[in-house]
Amino acid sequence: MKVYLFSVAPVEEPFVKEWQDQHPDDEISYTHSPLTASNLELAKGFEAVSTQQAEALKDAELKALAAGGVKHLALRKVGSDNVDLAAARKYGIVVSNVPAYSPRAIAENGLTGAMYLLRKWGYYHRKMRRGDFTRPTELMSDEIFNQTVGIVGLGRIGAAAAEMYHALGARVIGYDPFYNASLEPFLDFVDFDTLIKESDIIQLHIPLTPENKGMFGTNEFAKMKDDAILVNQSRGELVDTEALIVALKYHEIGGAALDVLEGEEKIFGRKFEDVGSLPDEYTELINMPNVVMSPHSAYYTKMAVKNMFFQSMTDTQRTVSGQQAFFKVN
Ligand code: NAD
Repeated sequence: MKVYLFSVAPVEEPFVKEWQDQHPDDEISYTHSPLTASNLELAKGFEAVSTQQAEALKDAELKALAAGGVKHLALRKVGSDNVDLAAARKYGIVVSNVPAYSPRAIAENGLTGAMYLLRKWGYYHRKMRRGDFTRPTELMSDEIFNQTVGIVGLGRIGAAAAEMYHALGARVIGYDPFYNASLEPFLDFVDFDTLIKESDIIQLHIPLTPENKGMFGTNEFAKMKDDAILVNQSRGELVDTEALIVALKYHEIGGAALDVLEGEEKIFGRKFEDVGSLPDEYTELINMPNVVMSPHSAYYTKMAVKNMFFQSMTDTQRTVSGQQAFFKVN
């Protein structure tokens, strides 16, 4: 098959080479730039294009791609809202996405953050930087197999997290409006209120909707155990950040591991020379010893980047050979 790849990141290049080595008959060309009206000529004569961009692909671009022979548009990401899917259908272009590139990558990042907080590494690290090597009573920690872990949302990532904590010997409880019998070996299904009251570690793996914005706020923090750890890798807006800061400051909860933050799009993925210009809420959180943060990088593993590329190429191959793409979105 003949595929033109747009918006190829340097980290993807080894996987492009790996695919090419495994499929020497494929004709693959690529650019680091996103696909736009000004460069779509590059794809002329190719059967498929692939991209990871946020830039919009509208009727005009899709029409021009189809005229140039493109039959498949592979999005190397989850979201497809930047593409006019109806227009793609009109011009006979199949669009696919990659809905799950590595649930374990995200689940494992949450577990790592929770363990860091459980074992008080942030406190010890700060003390040791000041030359204080003591082991005060309040820094005695717990062991994971004695903990109750509550997973909110038991889809792909939540299920992977439940299996990991179960394997470590923790008691795992979970809340999801949809019951999934295949998870019974790893956890007990409970209601939301029981989960927030009984859990030592609470991990969120749910999509953000208008209904669950601020799902964790003052009332929920008040019900949680004083030393409970909140792990959020889903969306920042699920947590009321101001209420979280108060709960952490006044020991209503024990700690927070955050891969996402309300308003993160203004700062995550960028580099700031002047840290004084960063939002106050971010600055306050990052300086707390009971908080650990990452810049929406829970998914960012070699396995996930490889899966994103390989799964998108597999679906491209299926369309080009007349089969139905696994993850067709239009
Ligand atoms: P999924 O669709 O497989 O599972 C989501 C689950 O949440 C479903 O079982 C659903 O029934 C449940 N759910 C929905 N609303 C709920 C609620 N109010 N309470 C309890 N359960 C609820 O999704 P997934 O692939 O597991 O991803 C989960 C979320 O993880 C995504 O929506 C996204 O926000 C986030 N995510 C983060 C990263 C990262 O790098 N930090 C990467 C990928 C996904």
